[in-house]
Amino acid sequence: MKISDIQIQQVNDRISALIEADSFYGKKLREAGVSSVSTPEDFEKLPFSEKKDLREAYPLGLMTAPEEQIVRIHSSSGTTGLPVIIPYTAKDVDDWGIMFKRCYETAGITNMDRIQITPGYGLWTAGIGFQNGAEKLGAMVIPMGPGNTDKQLQMMQDMKSTVICATSSYALLLAEEIKKRGIGDKICLRKGVIGSERWGEKMRESIKNQLGIELYDIYGLTEIYGPGIGINCKYDTGMHYWDDYIYIEIIDPVTGKNVPDGEMGEIVITTLVKEGAPLIRYRTHDLSRIIPGECECGSRFPRIDVIMGRTDDMMKIKGVNVFPSQIEEVLSEFSEISSEYQIRISHLDGKDTMRIYVETSGSVDFLDLSGRIAERVKSRIGFTPLVKVVEVGVLPRSEKKTKRVIDERFD
Ligand code: ZN
Repeated sequence: MKISDIQIQQVNDRISALIEADSFYGKKLREAGVSSVSTPEDFEKLPFSEKKDLREAYPLGLMTAPEEQIVRIHSSSGTTGLPVIIPYTAKDVDDWGIMFKRCYETAGITNMDRIQITPGYGLWTAGIGFQNGAEKLGAMVIPMGPGNTDKQLQMMQDMKSTVICATSSYALLLAEEIKKRGIGDKICLRKGVIGSERWGEKMRESIKNQLGIELYDIYGLTEIYGPGIGINCKYDTGMHYWDDYIYIEIIDPVTGKNVPDGEMGEIVITTLVKEGAPLIRYRTHDLSRIIPGECECGSRFPRIDVIMGRTDDMMKIKGVNVFPSQIEEVLSEFSEISSEYQIRISHLDGKDTMRIYVETSGSVDFLDLSGRIAERVKSRIGFTPLVKVVEVGVLPRSEKKTKRVIDERFD
């Protein structure tokens, strides 16, 4: 998926704006002697931008439009160190809404839908992003924000919500709660739009079956508008993304070189028309691939695969490179276990050890099951983990993103 002439022109406009504003990246480009690009090869030589650099620009170093045009800021969660502050112009907010509206439309959601939004509102981009797009679409928004499951379920019944927007873990929690309370026949949901957390096929099936709804993965990150830059269509063959607003490349996370279409690597995003804080070649650390060819739905928009993990999730266990998604794939082959799991990596007696916690019902022989899972991991991935089987419900479930991989070696 080479960058087109139009996109190169848009990139040049952004480079000029950055340099003129003398913002954080304007300075970097000027120092690197970059003023414009003319070929795809030139473009691939532009320096990457990184989250750690964005933190250096705190608080408003990324601001590239004049102050009087900035209408809002958002911030990434900043669990370590300084948060990243992204300024938006009115046009940026509008563009984001247009993209998000497209996401809803791609998912077959219309202005007759009632959209219950459970991601959080505030500094981060989730709740308000879902809301902007829904209002542009003309749907009725039920702006719940996170938590308070009793109230969520009450409103879901009384307002007859037809669409739920949530993280995968919260969608699962709601699905389990609806089943437990036996209120399934009072729920009118038909679709779920699920935030860009990496989640397994098993969890997906579990939510889908318990609620009887279609599920759509929405992609996005605060640094690049927020959620809404891509979503899968009903054919479920990866996520369409909006290449009139963003340009996506896939690179080898180690060498930084572009990989051929179809090959797995790190998603790198360039914003093509963003004014408040344009980003050139931003490394997301999300792993995916470009899906070559056309989608059955006839959409002209290109596709990336669902997010397969994070480059920083890559674990080295006994000399073997492992991604959590590989473990997840093995676990999904065991019908006796639930969709929840936890991976803990520690350094014991001079050796890296992986423990995998899985859940099953009491009727299964725990010892036999753990042996079979360990064996399957060994044959597929090349090392033997310690597998601990527990009762269903023991592993933590959360309203936010559930942390499934815990690396105790660095604690
Ligand atoms: Zn499609």
